[in-house]
Order: sequence, then structure tokens, then C-alpha cells
Amino acid sequence: MENKKNILQDSFGRQHTYLRISLTELCNLRCTYCMPAEGIQLSPRSHIMSYDEVFEIAKTFVDHGVTKIRLTGGEPLVRRDADVILKKLATLPVELSITSNAVIIDRFIDVLKECNVRSINVSLDSLDAVKFKEITRRNDFEKVYKNIMLLINEGFNVKLNAVLINGFNDNEIIDFIEFTKELPISVRFIEFMPFDGNQWDKAKMVSYAQVMEYVNSNYDVDKVIRMQDAPNDTSKNYKIEGYKGSFAIISSVTNPFCDSCNRIRLTANGRLKNCLFSSSESDLLTPLREGKSIETIIQKAVQAKLKVRGGMDTMEKLEQPDLHGKNRSMIAIGG
Ligand code: SAM
Ligand code: SF4
Repeated sequence: MENKKNILQDSFGRQHTYLRISLTELCNLRCTYCMPAEGIQLSPRSHIMSYDEVFEIAKTFVDHGVTKIRLTGGEPLVRRDADVILKKLATLPVELSITSNAVIIDRFIDVLKECNVRSINVSLDSLDAVKFKEITRRNDFEKVYKNIMLLINEGFNVKLNAVLINGFNDNEIIDFIEFTKELPISVRFIEFMPFDGNQWDKAKMVSYAQVMEYVNSNYDVDKVIRMQDAPNDTSKNYKIEGYKGSFAIISSVTNPFCDSCNRIRLTANGRLKNCLFSSSESDLLTPLREGKSIETIIQKAVQAKLKVRGGMDTMEKLEQPDLHGKNRSMIAIGG
């Protein structure tokens, strides 16, 4: 086999094997922490990658060592050709997975199975229908709940993502953990992160330490089991003894996991982001459309990756709105 240049290793020796592809900037929900109330400036349709372009760019990454691809968005499943993209990507030698709000995922069960998608991350920030409506600005709790049960019954490996917001859903931490008693799912509590237009405030964030305070005051210490985290895992995993499922905390704010980061992101308009928190982007789509090679651009973007959170290496920097204001909204990055 031809000996290829290692274009996916950064200057800190981190090898990037995990590509997250945003398929669309559109969404059928309007989560307050993700999408600004006034909406976002959408890219013109012609600037969004076609399914062939998604495939071509993904294939370049796979040829250079990417072994895992996760589809995200916006809501990846609202894209009309989401099934075509899934089927094309399934021909690559990668582990294919998806992050979805699950509102319409029942329509995709067969295609997800056909494409060998095993792991599905579903966003669910509240187990209460009224609060769900408040945070998503849509009335779809019943559909999402039913679809989560459907995914579990169909044998998918389901992880629920809950962004915790102080005074809003922190009082549901134990309800979520109790949800894992009979269900073989992992509930992942995510620290609220700052992005353009989401009115981030440190006081709204519920930290890893705070989650563990709730846990330790509700369960006997010897019943709370710290599990082995997978390599490059962004979450600290736990389970309550005897429960079928587990829970985890993703602490990007208070305890970043940048040292072992293996992720790189492609936005729906074909820009490469070397870090979720970085405001710089590299356009891959224009050169691809001009028939040029994108490998050098990928290599430069990976090389330019900073050590911690796109340069926001301290809490002080994270708290400066002008720094995260330069980044996109999460809906346009692809979480
Ligand atoms: N629409 C899909 C969904 O909601 O699962 C996929 C895209 S969404 C941007 C991906 C993930 O990013 C979701 O789990 C969501 O909760 C998370 N997310 C969005 N904004 C966030 C923020 N400000 N802080 C932490 N997580 C956030
Ligand atoms: Fe849509 Fe997901 Fe963002 Fe909610 S978190 S607005 S479901 S993209």
C-alpha cells in the first residue's frame, strides 16, 4: 500500500481519527442553548455540501486514517437526502454513528440498521413535557420519548445527552439517573458551553463537581461505581450498582479533555473546524469544487490546532463573550 503522509496528526502528537460531519444548519427544534432566539444567518443552499461532496470529503479523511464518523447538525435527519448520505458513508470502512433529537428518527430505523449504525446519541434535556417545550421551543416531548423507547427496543446503543442548566433541569439529575435503573442506556450530563448568541453565563452552568454532589447526597458512596472510560472518551462514566444503564458527565468547561482529543469537525458548508471552540475554519468545499486537492488544507488546519479549547485555555478567557462570540452558534457547528 502507498505510504501516505500523516496529515491528521497535530503539533501535539494528537492523531485525529474521529470526524463529525454536520449535514445541515436546519433543525426542527429550537433549543435555547444551541440556537439564538432570532435564528441564524443560514448559508445559501448552493454553499451546502451535496451528498457526493460529503462522501468525497469523508473518503479523503478515511483514506488518511479516520475510523469513526458521526453525523450531526442542526438535525441531520431533516435533510431530505439523509438516507442517501447514510448509505453512501456506510460503504466506507468506518464506524458510523449519529446524533439526533429523535423527533423523526422512527422513519429511519430500517436505513440505520441497513447502514450498521449501532450507536445513537439523542438529546433530551428534561423528562418533563412542559420543560421540554420551554427549552426546545417545540411541543415534541411525546414523539421523542416514544422514539427513544423504540430505539432501545430495536437494539440500538442509546446515549441520552442532557445539557444541564442551573435552576432549570439540575433538579432532574436524579430522575435521569433513575431512568437508567431499568433501561440499558447511558445518560450523559453535559456542561453548558458558550457559543455565539446562547447567552452563556458561568452561573447557568452545572459543573461536574455539582453533578457529583447531587449523586453523592442521593446514593450510598459504595453504590456509585466509577467505570472504565474508553480511550479518547470525552465523558467520565459511572453507574449505580445493579442498574441496567449508566451515566456520565461531559465536562468540557471545568475539566477539558483536550489532551486526548481525536476529533475534527466538518460544517454543513464544507468548512473544517479543528476544535469545537475554535473560531477559525478552513474551506474545503471551494477547492473541492475547483477540482483541487484538499489534503494540504486539511494538514494545515490540523497542524494549527491549539492545545486547549481553541485557545480558551482558562476560565477567564472562556468568560469573555468577545472570544466565543467569534465562534459560530452550536447549531451551525454541529455538536
Ligand atoms: N440536533 C441534534 C441533537 O440535538 O442531538 C444534533 C446536533 S446538536 C448541536 C448536538 C449536541 O450538542 C446536542 O447533544 C446538544 O445538546 C449539544 N449542545 C448544543 N448546544 C450546546 C451548548 N451550548 N452546550 C453544551 N452542549 C450543547
Ligand atoms: Fe436542534 Fe440539536 Fe440544536 Fe436542539 S441541540 S436546536 S435539536 S441542533
